Amino acid sequence: MSIEVQNVSKVYGEQNALDNISISVKPGEIVGFLGPNGAGKSTMMKIITCFIPQTAGKISVCGFDVEQDPLEVKKRVGYLPEHNPLYLDMYVKEYLTFVAGLHLVPDKKKRVDEMVKLVGLELEQNKQIGELSKGYRQRVGLAQALIHDPDVLILDEPTTGLDPNQIEEIRNLIKKLGEEKTVMMSTHIMQEVEAICDRVVIISQGKIVANDTSRNISESQEEQHVTRVEFDQSVEEDLLRKVSGVLEIRSMGGNEWMIVSKADIRNDLFQFSVKNNLGILTLQKEEKSLEEAFKSLTKN
Ligand code: ADP
Ligand code: MG
Repeated sequence: MSIEVQNVSKVYGEQNALDNISISVKPGEIVGFLGPNGAGKSTMMKIITCFIPQTAGKISVCGFDVEQDPLEVKKRVGYLPEHNPLYLDMYVKEYLTFVAGLHLVPDKKKRVDEMVKLVGLELEQNKQIGELSKGYRQRVGLAQALIHDPDVLILDEPTTGLDPNQIEEIRNLIKKLGEEKTVMMSTHIMQEVEAICDRVVIISQGKIVANDTSRNISESQEEQHVTRVEFDQSVEEDLLRKVSGVLEIRSMGGNEWMIVSKADIRNDLFQFSVKNNLGILTLQKEEKSLEEAFKSLTKN
């Protein structure tokens, strides 16, 4: 496993920020870490990156324990903290060279140039960090996280505060990085998770409430299925109502119907159409969004 979190808890004074969390992230996975504000996402990320200690539990990164081998862990982890603290009066390349030095990167100049290219900072490379837009500052943050070529990237809300174009650029960059690295990223944007993550972990009040693909999470919260069906000719409503599992029927005009059912009834509708010599023009299950699942999982 690239990241192995076992029964981790964190208490700040009186506050239980993480409560017995276990997560495994496989090499090459991109895992989305979701949760309302205050759920404990940043706390988990700070512990994985050896910035703060856990109160209980065990964490290893690429096989190294964060408490016993923090230096080995830090060699293998790139971290973009939540508010991306940068030295605003340093120049882009000066800052990246400084970070490369901290990591004892052998050919610093060459590596900095490679990073500038990788994250798309060519045009801004001679500017002061304070002169850059938020989107370009995020790229500097990603470059510093990548400079020692870590296997694992921990990105805390990498797209928060960016405009839609910048969000798309950073998202594409993360997707590209994810082809080679293991990525754990927190975000508030559901489409982002659906667009780039293989798996989603949702936490609420320090506890894991879901850990699966975004599709499975959305479906697991589905209490009712809604299916849209269009036949090639008119159908008696009473006849359609007799299809097993149907709870409710709404005519959508023409020969189109919305059918609410307890389970997936697409196959039953297909059998129904064969039996009654009907053609089916459309047969579609309405997808419930990850956003709705998130809301129902994280409200108390
Ligand atoms: P998230 O990143 O999901 O918004 P955090 O990990 O930042 O959540 O915070 C989890 C909880 O722990 C919050 O209730 C927060 O107020 C609390 N917390 C975070 N950092 C500290 C700290 N240094 N001291 C005390 N409480 C903290
Ligand atoms: Mg946070």
